[in-house]
Amino acid sequence: MRELDELDGALAGLDGRSSGRDLWAALGAAGLIEAVYVDGDPRRGVIAERLGAVLAAADARCSIPATLVASVQLATGVPVLAAGDGPAAKALDRVVSGDESVALAATDGQGGSDLAGMATELTIGTSEVELRGSKRWIAGATSADHLLVLGRHSRQRHFTSFTWVLVPARAAGVHVRPAGSSLFAASDVGHVDLDGAVVPRDHVVGPVGRGLPMFVRHINTERLAGALWGTALCARSLDATRRRLAERPYGDGTLWDLDSVRQRFATSYVRARQLAALTDALAGAVVHDHDSAAAATLKAAAGETVNEVLATCAQLHGADGFAADGLQELRAQGALFAIGGGAAEVVLSIVADAAERLVGDLRRRPLAATGPAREGSRRDGS
Ligand SMILES: Cc1cc2nc3c(=O)[nH]c(=O)nc-3n(C[C@H](O)[C@H](O)[C@H](O)COP(=O)(O)OP(=O)(O)OC[C@H]3O[C@@H](n4cnc5c(N)ncnc54)[C@H](O)[C@@H]3O)c2cc1C
Repeated sequence: MRELDELDGALAGLDGRSSGRDLWAALGAAGLIEAVYVDGDPRRGVIAERLGAVLAAADARCSIPATLVASVQLATGVPVLAAGDGPAAKALDRVVSGDESVALAATDGQGGSDLAGMATELTIGTSEVELRGSKRWIAGATSADHLLVLGRHSRQRHFTSFTWVLVPARAAGVHVRPAGSSLFAASDVGHVDLDGAVVPRDHVVGPVGRGLPMFVRHINTERLAGALWGTALCARSLDATRRRLAERPYGDGTLWDLDSVRQRFATSYVRARQLAALTDALAGAVVHDHDSAAAATLKAAAGETVNEVLATCAQLHGADGFAADGLQELRAQGALFAIGGGAAEVVLSIVADAAERLVGDLRRRPLAATGPAREGSRRDGS
């Protein structure tokens, strides 16, 4: 994988005003979408280090709304698309090259966090599928070529009642409108109404009834992506804040000379470092074992850490934090880390459900290899 400055070069034409669609096209043109997957094959899963490097490079240049579009497609949209044949397989090539984009429409007009309560209905016939319902707050929806819609083909509230369908965004009966969010305008975020839209039967993606297990598997990767990206976001915000504090005059020195400011900054650094360490520790369990509790732990930690670190950075920017594209706007956008892809409370419930195993693992965890002590340093830190 190319180094971060080389990755940055691939995104050289982008800046904070670029849209998620612009970012996706640049990533595809540079071969960075394919590069995220094992052997370039989205069906084989992501390489966590590469996913983290691409998201960090995107975060360094682009806004949170733009990077969100790339994160959702890399972690979830492309892998779900790759589970299909026929039209999905054809669309996959164009999406991976960055020429086209896919929006992942799971969150329902009815149901929200309660996915199994969704009302979007699929009538699956022998030659066609009809879709009725609505999807809300879908990243990339207003500029996407394809929508991956999760709907219910059975009224039963059961794990096997849901199926993915690939829907051309401009098909008859599909109405996409902007969600009207100024904070997330660069995400092209929109609401989708499906008013009797009809697609050929071969647009079903993956086996009928496997929609929810497929979603769970890939949302785990999206939660890992959130932790990888959240770490990069905290690091760049802390860097900008430290530089500002060191330059901002106060008394005979600068704000950085105030011990209470330094301690507050250091507390945020420790929180970000904890997120980084947790991500390093659990990435393998998410990628290789598809461990939902590990993914939920990362998601809960990322939401809390991003909220806390960005709030401190914004506060320490004073009035400048309210400038256009300032830290206060970043902080407001960063609140998404505790909502998008599963609200903080929902992922904490997943952690609690696995409490016995997780606490047992915590008690038995081996000490990670520490490597040789550096010359001149002593184990007691003196
Ligand atoms: C900018 C943006 C982009 C998005 N992109 C996508 C996308 O591309 N695809 C997609 O499918 N969705 C997308 N979403 C939707 C997102 O995934 C949902 O907003 C999220 O899952 C929460 O669902 P909800 O908004 O319906 O919250 P609600 O279900 O209305 O819940 C509201 C609040 O209630 C609380 N709550 C909910 N459930 C529980 C619980 N079980 N226990 C305790 N408290 C609870 C939480 O505080 C939660 O935030 C996006 C959202 C935003 C804002």
